[in-house]
Amino acid sequence: MKTDDEVPETELDYDEILRRGGANLGDEDFALLKCPSCPRIYLMEYEVDTLYMNPDDLAERIPVSSYPRSFNCTACGARFPETEAWLGPKAPKEMKVTWHQLAQSSWRWVTRLTRG
Ligand SMILES: [Zn+2]
Repeated sequence: MKTDDEVPETELDYDEILRRGGANLGDEDFALLKCPSCPRIYLMEYEVDTLYMNPDDLAERIPVSSYPRSFNCTACGARFPETEAWLGPKAPKEMKVTWHQLAQSSWRWVTRLTRG
């Protein structure tokens, strides 16, 4: 593992996310993504396409299931891609979250490794 590697989805600590009130509508699938224009990181639940805005309050979330998508970063205001993937191999590389970026963010609790 290198600090500039992408954080694999499998590293996310579901028990901790759910303990903090992160349950959505069931069958949760979580992944991290980053604003393509600034360092702001978001947690996404992609079974029901929901973005979690605040690492300290998982109740702060918004649906992003409409298509084309319309979401502007809450930190810098940049428009997220409307029709491109946000997650997975087809997502823009600027939207991937590295171990280093995660460790620097308030989302660091989301993996055992970065929680320390
Ligand atoms: Zn941004």
